[in-house]
Amino acid sequence: MMTEQPRPTTGHRVVIVGAGFGGLECAYRLKGAPVSITVVDRRNHHLFQPLLYQVATASLATSEIAWPIRYLLRDRRDVTTLFANVNGVDAANRRVLLEDGQALAYDTLVLATGVRHAYFGHDEWEPFAPGLKTLEDATTLRRRILVAFERAERETDPQRRAALLTFVIVGAGPTGVELAGTIAELANDTLPPDFRNIDTRKTRVVLIEAGPRVLAGFPEDLSAYAQASLQSLGVEVILNQPVTECSSDGVVYGGQRLMARTLIWAAGVRASRAAQWLGAPADGAGRLKVMPDLTVPDHHDIFAVGDTVTIAGPDGKPVPGIAPAAKQEGRYVASAIKARLRGETPPPFRYHHSGSLAQIGKRKAVIDFGRIKLRGTIAWWIWGIAHIYFLIGLRYRLSVAISWLWIHARDQRAARLITQGSSKVAG
Ligand SMILES: Cc1cc2nc3c(=O)[nH]c(=O)nc-3n(C[C@H](O)[C@H](O)[C@H](O)COP(=O)(O)OP(=O)(O)OC[C@H]3O[C@@H](n4cnc5c(N)ncnc54)[C@H](O)[C@@H]3O)c2cc1C
Repeated sequence: MMTEQPRPTTGHRVVIVGAGFGGLECAYRLKGAPVSITVVDRRNHHLFQPLLYQVATASLATSEIAWPIRYLLRDRRDVTTLFANVNGVDAANRRVLLEDGQALAYDTLVLATGVRHAYFGHDEWEPFAPGLKTLEDATTLRRRILVAFERAERETDPQRRAALLTFVIVGAGPTGVELAGTIAELANDTLPPDFRNIDTRKTRVVLIEAGPRVLAGFPEDLSAYAQASLQSLGVEVILNQPVTECSSDGVVYGGQRLMARTLIWAAGVRASRAAQWLGAPADGAGRLKVMPDLTVPDHHDIFAVGDTVTIAGPDGKPVPGIAPAAKQEGRYVASAIKARLRGETPPPFRYHHSGSLAQIGKRKAVIDFGRIKLRGTIAWWIWGIAHIYFLIGLRYRLSVAISWLWIHARDQRAARLITQGSSKVAG
């Protein structure tokens, strides 16, 4: 039976589903508005996804890139935080439906539920080629990467050992490039002194991309620089080759099989089910097509923001699925709600692109600020400072800065812990 969740009932009720970059920014920016806010998320933490790959490659600990949502909003008496999975919206009766049968009444709803991995119709590949989206994904990948080296140390068959020391990353966007560069450095710089039976510098890191270049969203010269930098780290870059099979043995591309025990999926995303909950129009990846004021068509009281929506930017291209875009949209929706409560009509949302950044290993990065393009060490410093600046709280900024300085000075990645299983079950 459906029950109503008890909550403060004073004022206009705003329910925000998802405390990622978009949802949290909206909650922050509604401070002082005459509303009571409920933030509901199926995870108890806000996650800084741009540094997930550093957890997966043992550079940072999980607690350095995620913070309890309840803690982040603890000083806001106008905000109630709920830990629950939303599985529908009853728009006719203005209720958000929770998986456990409860419902949340709203006057204004903000959907900020992000995206998940997509395997282009091959969901059966997921167990063999996990993606990187959640903290659990990152610790699973970290375990798989570290366990592969552990198993190789004990493996006597040369073919099986080679497969254990082959790491395949599918998809050469920023995440694939960052993972490939960091795994190569882990194998070349950090691990060699730790092992006796294997030379970890013989590890193969293979980055496979269906398109014609790495970092396709960047200008061509920066893509070419990124590719050359990866190759100088020993990464094998394979372009124009869609992967046609993933299995426990490895991958198939261009009709040939590559034996590899560790596959990582960085190739595609699919939006949350927000569009399906409302029967609203969506693009091919399931992203909700929102109106210029970020409301859902035919639902004046429902806004949607972040990766789960699609809207054209000023250049006519879709606004990219990046954290600053989600934050801008969250900020806009907060101001739109406030304007409406004052009886005003908010102007349409306008996206400002401030730049694209990607790291390639621990000393190089590429940055595209539009007119200004940077590469190499200077870009890496800007990349690092930008990420530290956007982390939440001084304590975390300091801790991440110290971890990175340690990696730079000593090539040591301190978070090389195999969790979620003993040597018997790990793999
Ligand atoms: C590995 C990786 C690296 C990235 N690197 C960068 C980068 O370098 N720079 C950059 O700008 N962007 C980067 N991004 C993209 C960036 O993280 C996203 O654009 C941003 O997180 C989008 O914010 P959002 O609020 O739309 O969604 P998210 O931040 O994904 O938040 C969605 C929230 O909704 C919650 N949720 C989802 N479904 C439900 C449900 N049914 N019920 C309750 N809660 C739900 C989730 O738990 C989550 O907390 C990266 C992403 C990944 C995965």
